[in-house]
Parts: sequence; structure tokens; C-alpha cells
Amino acid sequence: MAVPLTPPPAPAPSSPDPPLFPPLHTADILACQFSHWYPLFRRISPKATVIRPIPQEDDFVEYLESDGLFLPEGSGPMGLSELSDSDSDSDSPSSSTASSTDGADGRPTPSPRQRRQFSFPHLDAEIRSALARYDGAVFPKLNWSSPQDAAWMLPGQNLKCQTPADVYLLLKSSDFISHDLDRAFDDCIDYEPTSPSLAGLSLDEEEGERRRRRRWSFELVLKKWFDMPRSQEWRCFVRENRLLAISQRDTTFYDFLQGEQVKANLTTQISDFWAREIRDKAPLSSYIFDIYLTRDSSRLFLIDLNPFSPRTDTLLFPPSHLLSLHLSPSSSPDLRVVESEKGGGMPRYAHNRYPRDVVELSEGQSVAEFAREWVGRVAEASV
Ligand code: ATP
Ligand code: MG
Repeated sequence: MAVPLTPPPAPAPSSPDPPLFPPLHTADILACQFSHWYPLFRRISPKATVIRPIPQEDDFVEYLESDGLFLPEGSGPMGLSELSDSDSDSDSPSSSTASSTDGADGRPTPSPRQRRQFSFPHLDAEIRSALARYDGAVFPKLNWSSPQDAAWMLPGQNLKCQTPADVYLLLKSSDFISHDLDRAFDDCIDYEPTSPSLAGLSLDEEEGERRRRRRWSFELVLKKWFDMPRSQEWRCFVRENRLLAISQRDTTFYDFLQGEQVKANLTTQISDFWAREIRDKAPLSSYIFDIYLTRDSSRLFLIDLNPFSPRTDTLLFPPSHLLSLHLSPSSSPDLRVVESEKGGGMPRYAHNRYPRDVVELSEGQSVAEFAREWVGRVAEASV
């Protein structure tokens, strides 16, 4: 459930009252959790493991929400101390406190902050066992979102995780994951997170109160990693059990997707797949689903189920246009592809991109090497 991309420019409104998305309820969001829809569609979805509840869930959420980039102890090939505080003064009052005094090499170490240490041995073990089952690589997400905005953290600049540390670092660095943690139900008309008010509570009390009010469990989803060319991905819009529209998921121009015949064939293949495999089992009447068509076009896989709401990126369909589409049962959905080299719009997650030097610094390195080097650079910069 990523922050939407900037959509292509919307056409001038033809009426003073543009159509609205249908109201969103907490039940819609709960139905789009991976653990809710995946069992219904296991046969047509890539392999995945859901860890729910997450062992030590409260501590894990606290770790993800805590300030700073550091890893839980024992989560990677190297471990926390080598990643974050390795340069800190060995005389510091506790191993969980970074020191502001100069380290042994004369460089200042990260700023003084009481940092609680975390370790998640049971979760580490579950991630390692999924890695072993899935040939050593997984794609992580929480209930709804994957940390796509943090892909720059890993050497391949993708979400391919090969250790528990990779998983933690991505989740901890991502704004999309923060959304799952804090704001998943924000747009729901039947959700009132601020009632009764949290005003006047200390930060700790507020956090405890939010946790008590939470009506769902977090889950860590580990999908078997596979290379999925973005040109083969489609996002499909269903409203009131009608497949209205299909959009190319990537915003790049692909020559081989051009032409009326190509589009007609894709429309038929995707519509048939939806009618055969999804329509009658879907947990909602309005939803947006993502699919992947294998390179040889022989198979389709369901990748995700998203709420029919503005929080799901409508890609090549401006929301006002999407909402004005009404299909009779016999008409076929509107399929759109990027039709010119210039038509791709904004790069993905441009608002979450990191400075070039940070990205360059990460290239070709493991998480551990990168994190250590990054901490060093930050320290140098603060001299
Ligand atoms: P969105 O915010 O767009 O709904 P999301 O956070 O729900 O995305 P997914 O839809 O599960 O995340 O995956 C996002 C992208 O990551 C997919 O479009 C695909 O390119 C890639 N991806 C998904 N699953 C896998 C996988 N198992 N292996 C490799 N890449 C994957
Ligand atoms: Mg999604």
C-alpha cells in the first residue's frame, strides 16, 4: 500500500462534481492483508510464508519505529555490534549506548543516545528457515506493504533478502512500512484512532495506548524471490465485481506491448484469468489486484490484492477517469500501456529517493559493509 505515484495529468474535469472513490471501511483493509487473501489464492500465487503473529511483536514494532539505522543482535552474518557501534568507546557506560567522544581512531562516533538493544532469535530462525526453503532469497512485506522505497539499501537496489539482517534493514528504513505500522486504517470511515484523545499522555504512554487499541496483528510475509520483469506486470481494477480497467504496472515504454492486437490478446487473457480464478473467490466486490504474466505468456500469477481506494496507485488511469468507467457485463475492460518513450511519467518513488552519493556508496556491498561505511561517513561529515 505504497504512497501513490504522481498520476499522469488528469483531464480537465467535465463536471463540477468529480466522481469519488467509494467509502473505505476497516473490513476492506483487513481483507487486503496478505494473510487474508493468500490462502484463497495459494494455487495461483507465488510461494510465500506468513509469520503471524510476529514473535515478540511489541518489541519488533518498537525496533522498527526506533530512531537510527541499526540491526538486532545476531540477525546477520556479522551481528549488531559490528554494524552500528563498532567504533564506539569501549569504556562507554553500556554496550547499548553510543558515545559522542572520539573513537580509538580519533573519529567522532555517532551521537550520544540511549539506544535499547534488540534481538529476535525466534524471528531470525523463522526467516532463516524460509530462506532455506526458498533457495536462499525472499521478498519481504508486512500486512499490506513492501519496503520498495528502501530498495536502495541493498547492493542490488532491489528487495532480494538473503539474511534476516537484510529483511530488518529494509523494513526499518521504509516509509511504506511505517504506514502499515501507524496509519493503515487512516482513511477508513469507521476508524477513529484519536478517540478518546491521546493528548496529555507521555510518549511512552501514548505508544502503549496505541498498541492496546490496535485491533489486528502484524505479520511478516516472506515471498520466494524470483526475477519478475516489470514489463510483465499488470494492475487490474475491479469495481462491484466488474473488471473495469487494466494498466501496465511499470511506467516504461515497451515496444513489444504496442499494437491493438497485442492489447486485445492481453485483455482477453487477463479477463479470462480473472473470471476463472479470482472473481468468485475474491473477499471484496471492489478491489485492485496485481498480476504477473510469465515471459512466455503461458501463466499468470496473482501478486497482490489492494483496496479500491486512492491509496492504491491508479497508474495509467487518472482516478477521475477510472471512477467514471462503468461496464456492462458484456463489454471488455480498458487496457492501457505506456505509448511513447516520453509517456512514462515520474520515476517510481521519486519522493523517496536518496542522494546519489548514498546510493553510490551502497553499490556492490553487503548490508553489513554498507551500514558500517555509512555510519563512518556520517561521523566524518559531522566533524
Ligand atoms: P504496491 O504498493 O504497488 O501495492 P506492494 O508494497 O503491495 O506494492 P507487492 O505488490 O507485493 O508490494 O510487490 C511490489 C513489486 O515487487 C512487484 O510489482 C514486483 O515487481 C516485485 N515483487 C513482488 N513479489 C516479488 C517476489 N516474490 N520476488 C521478486 N520481486 C517481487
Ligand atoms: Mg500492494
